[in-house]
Amino acid sequence: MLEEIELVCDAPGCDRSLDEPAFRLAMTTPLGTRRVYECACGAVTITVSRE
Ligand SMILES: [Zn+2]
Repeated sequence: MLEEIELVCDAPGCDRSLDEPAFRLAMTTPLGTRRVYECACGAVTITVSRE
């Protein structure tokens, strides 16, 4: 199951939503699916979801 989380860039002074990141990468590993989001400001956010 995926939890619905509103992803927002956590860089100081940046409130951009990560729904439409400048760059996105999804990688599945035995520990879960990792998603990498790069905001237009250059900050990178990584999430891990297990199913
Ligand atoms: Zn940002």
